[in-house]
Amino acid sequence: MSDVPRIVLLPGDGIGPEIVAAARRLLEAQGEFEFEEHLVGGCSIDEYGVALTDGVLAACREADAVLLGAVGGPKWDTTDPAAPRPEQGLLGLRKGMGLYANLRPVRPSPALVGSSPLREERIAGTDLLVVRELTGGIYFGASGRDGDVAHDTCEYSVGEIERIARTGFEAARGRAEGTGDSAHVTSVDKANVLETSRLWRETVSGLASDYPDVELEHLLVDNAAMQLVSRPADFDVIVTENLFGDILSDESAMLTGSLGMLPSASLGAEGEPGLFEPVHGSAPDIAGQGVANPLATFLSAAMMLRHGLGRGNVAVRIEAAVDAVLERGLRTRDLLVGGAAAASQGDRPPEREVGTEAITEAVLSVI
Ligand code: NAD
Repeated sequence: MSDVPRIVLLPGDGIGPEIVAAARRLLEAQGEFEFEEHLVGGCSIDEYGVALTDGVLAACREADAVLLGAVGGPKWDTTDPAAPRPEQGLLGLRKGMGLYANLRPVRPSPALVGSSPLREERIAGTDLLVVRELTGGIYFGASGRDGDVAHDTCEYSVGEIERIARTGFEAARGRAEGTGDSAHVTSVDKANVLETSRLWRETVSGLASDYPDVELEHLLVDNAAMQLVSRPADFDVIVTENLFGDILSDESAMLTGSLGMLPSASLGAEGEPGLFEPVHGSAPDIAGQGVANPLATFLSAAMMLRHGLGRGNVAVRIEAAVDAVLERGLRTRDLLVGGAAAASQGDRPPEREVGTEAITEAVLSVI
């Protein structure tokens, strides 16, 4: 990696350009970065006829990290299987960049615990990370139909399990570093029924000796789904296979109740660039109005600094600034429960509705 990190920005469609421009301002205020911007998704279809060109993929692979807004919108919705679709841009990036690990942290900002569908005392203190395997399992196995019978095949190799388990163990170790907390990994499978899960459990257990500082527990996926809503604050890192991770990461995302706040990272092999993006979509209903919430993109940029560029200290600053701005009562429209700003409660200041520009300014001024 050169001294000045090279970041490819892929704003995409809908609110993507607004939130990525805000994140660029934030990053520019944090240090020296080289930026390159490219089209992906619907805007790339309009320009080039495909959602991801070979040239853009090559630029992403050569970068130190990639920050993406979101893709898609009604303009490109189609039922024609032969027509290009914006999501092909995302799938092409995942495949072309070899991204096999998806990381989704769930840490409700203290000022927003009231937005959670769970009671405040249950969600308080939640700070977990779901590490999902992204390129194997039943989504990629052989599938087919024979008359009125259909099948999908789930397959995992020891190598695939080991690399994602390592990502989980390393992430747990990294999160605990310097905090005095112990690191904890919950590996989720269905080992009482599935052979792939038994191989999963055996492999993850075998790897644990490389991480004596990380406590490992195994949970069956049905139990994990229940525990996530009954005791979310007890989890640290959850590592699991593709299908279980798809479901559990969405369940975890709902714990916060604030879609506009959730970042994610997709990582590939050591030393290769990762892809960082907010969990939400392109929100075409509010695009161009200056009201999009850029905070999930800021938190994705923080993940990029931590996991992709080795600048965890800057990541912590951004995360703290986001919390501080929310503590002051600033809210984009999507964060207002019931759509209206609440009056001050206890020692919390009253909420004040602001747009993308004002909340970006506020984060910049706090940092
Ligand atoms: P969405 O996440 O775009 O929007 C859902 C609701 O949340 C909308 O009311 C939207 O206004 C609001 N919202 C989302 N993010 C927000 C933000 N940052 N600030 C303020 N409000 C926000 O989901 P959707 O409506 O189901 O999908 C819209 C488009 O996005 C579709 O074309 C879909 O395919 C695409 N999509 C893309 C991604 C991605 O690029 N990773 C993910 C999901 C959906």
